[in-house]
Amino acid sequence: SYAFGEPVKDWDSKRREWLKLHPSFAAGAAADNRVLLVTGSQPTVCKNPVGDHLQLRFFKNKVDYCRIHGHDIFYNSVLLDPNGTGFWAKYPLLRAAMLAHPESEWIWWVDSDAVLTDMEFKLPLERYKDHNLVVHGWWNMVYEQKSWTSLNAGVLLIRNCQWSLSLLDKWASMGPQGPNPEKWGKIQKSLIKDKAYPGSDDQSALIYLLIKEKSRWAAKIYLESEYNLHGYWLGIVDGLDGISKGYMEVDREVDLLRRRHAEKVSLFYGQMREKYMRERGIWRENKRRPFVTHFTGCEPCSGEHNGMYTWEACWNGMQKALNFADNQVLRRFGFVHPDLLNSSLVSPLPFDFPDA
Ligand code: UDP
Ligand code: MN
Repeated sequence: SYAFGEPVKDWDSKRREWLKLHPSFAAGAAADNRVLLVTGSQPTVCKNPVGDHLQLRFFKNKVDYCRIHGHDIFYNSVLLDPNGTGFWAKYPLLRAAMLAHPESEWIWWVDSDAVLTDMEFKLPLERYKDHNLVVHGWWNMVYEQKSWTSLNAGVLLIRNCQWSLSLLDKWASMGPQGPNPEKWGKIQKSLIKDKAYPGSDDQSALIYLLIKEKSRWAAKIYLESEYNLHGYWLGIVDGLDGISKGYMEVDREVDLLRRRHAEKVSLFYGQMREKYMRERGIWRENKRRPFVTHFTGCEPCSGEHNGMYTWEACWNGMQKALNFADNQVLRRFGFVHPDLLNSSLVSPLPFDFPDA
């Protein structure tokens, strides 16, 4: 049963027409960059007793980011296609989100188990103006190594246009929504040697399309690797304490300046902050905040983390990433989690700051 629905035709002109009828959305430069973050989780209670609590915190993190940056957000907790479970759930959802939100130029899918760990970082949308799909990845790993980790499909930016709808149809047709997922699982496995999951998966399906249908799709796909549009948690979480310390020292210095020169405009403090950060080398890779920390393989909802690491490593990593991100939010409210592993404890900030 192929329940993905009738293919949509002529979406670009339909969307243009809609925008004409809704001029408030079409106005201004913001129209080209309107982003709807879409995420979601399974319709039922998590098997892991702490799973739903984690989902709430993962969601809160995304809501905070969207509030700060003026993005819209949609959380889905139903299966739009009963066959499209797990990582396949996002395809009918992305399609529906495009049609339901013609005002959004970009749909930004973020897996529920991904944390936005730089609350200040803005998506560099200008860089993607000639592309329709952006994922984290490396071209040479796609074409030379044909590796499963050459890109990650858990965080993606997809333009609201006909090209994308066609891609989504094609993409999902290789999964359980399509007529022959077993066949696709085998094809993917023979192409992508390090693919571990035996069935058809969406990440492999995208790699397949890039390799086998390069001329049809590749030109409009942007593989990002200059910042962590997706970042694998295992290589990140141990560094978060150090990164947090670096930023806090800079913030403290800027705070001192602010108290001494209360009359100065905020632009000045922004510049000072950048100067301090340059001086401390905070733009360097291991000192900069990673934009996204993705807990791939941790399965926070089911608790069935894969055998490569312990649940404790996942749990501690998630606490660190969530509190690291939350500190950037709480700071404006005058509080901080002094210990990234202790989620309940917060201290009021003024006590942490030296008197001016
Ligand atoms: N998901 C969903 N509905 C479901 C099951 C999963 O929307 O019924 C989403 C959820 O956001 C999850 C994503 O699909 O994060 C992909 O699954 P997962 O993160 O477990 O895959 P991994 O990143 O570990 O490969
Ligand atoms: Mn994930």
